[in-house]
Amino acid sequence: MGYQYEVGDIVTLKKQHPCGSKEWEILRVGADFRLKCMGCDHQIMIARKLVEKNTKGLSKKGKEAESV
Ligand SMILES: [Zn+2]
Repeated sequence: MGYQYEVGDIVTLKKQHPCGSKEWEILRVGADFRLKCMGCDHQIMIARKLVEKNTKGLSKKGKEAESV
């Protein structure tokens, strides 16, 4: 469990949102995260430990093009 969460990353959670999407964009990190649903733009505040517990995958937005 060594995910490095950063603003702009896309986190995939185990539970899916009612809209059907499991992917959330990270808008803020800290003790609580602010996440935006990629499916319906709904925003939530969620405790970091819940994010860590439910993370299935993490896409590093800043490194998808080319890493130096
Ligand atoms: Zn949604």
